[in-house]
Amino acid sequence: MTTIAFIGLGNMGNPMAANLVKAGHAVHGFDLMPENLTIAKDHGVVIMANAIAAVRDADVIITMLPAGKHVLSVYEDIAPKAKKRTLFIDSSTIDVESARKAHAIAGKHGLLSIDAPVSGGTVGATAGTLTFMAGGSKDAFARAEPILKPMAGRIVHCGDGGAGQAAKICNNMILGISMIGVAEAFVLAEKLGLSNQALFDVASTSSGQCWSLTTYCPVPGPVPTSPANNGYRPGFAAALMLKDLKLSQEAAQSSGAVTPLGAEAAQLYALFNAQGNAGADFSGIINFLRGAPA
Ligand code: NAD
Repeated sequence: MTTIAFIGLGNMGNPMAANLVKAGHAVHGFDLMPENLTIAKDHGVVIMANAIAAVRDADVIITMLPAGKHVLSVYEDIAPKAKKRTLFIDSSTIDVESARKAHAIAGKHGLLSIDAPVSGGTVGATAGTLTFMAGGSKDAFARAEPILKPMAGRIVHCGDGGAGQAAKICNNMILGISMIGVAEAFVLAEKLGLSNQALFDVASTSSGQCWSLTTYCPVPGPVPTSPANNGYRPGFAAALMLKDLKLSQEAAQSSGAVTPLGAEAAQLYALFNAQGNAGADFSGIINFLRGAPA
């Protein structure tokens, strides 16, 4: 049993913390929202008065927060108070630069750290099947792996500090671009009088095959479990897709990478969100391309 501090018990953090409790760990939790603390308490998390109290006895600290500024502010507060040899795991999706700064704060206090963003959404967080993309030293990763296991379907060590966040935003840039590509193909097929099923049957076994088509098909019918069959309820909300595409474009700008399709995808998702679709599944972009509400 390990004592784990869990800071950020929102839609993702709460089910992740619950899986750590189920695995037999003592989880000391903190969140700014009292209603999230109530849910965590029901899952067996020991609720603490603030982040500093949560980390006091912890051997491992996990953060699951909205953005880089939240992670850096929490790290500045807790790193000086953490026990020696404490491992910091940040599973939030944040910009690569902030992730590297977070590693530097931990390092300054002699603490091990990894960035370990996830994919798999709230369904994966509840089922304990998230994919973790980890960045950090071999030592830090070796200590983190058994802690991540009860929450994970797959854990990949991507490289040094920040590499997990880099992998996450590159993957999600592919996802945003490919969803728009698949949606455009269905819109064109409809105009050409081709049925959704016929396009699916051909493309899903041909060179057009990709996850956005075969798992997350943006039209109802061919893949019964995709959000298109459920009124485009998320799933993966368009607001989160826009967040990740913006992070990819910030990273492209600061590193000098040329990503014109990533930039276009970010623009299209910004327009889709601005039309009141931030809470819809990101595959609902097909309705935006048709000129209809999601
Ligand atoms: P959320 O908004 O539901 O949860 C974030 C929580 O952090 C909130 O409960 C908030 O009160 C808390 N918080 C903010 N500042 C805090 C502070 N200083 N101290 C303590 N608590 C604080 O968001 P979420 O959906 O759980 O996502 C968390 C992270 O995971 C984000 O970075 C998101 O991009 C990423 N992510 C989300 C999904 C998803 O499907 N929801 C999937 C993959 C990755």
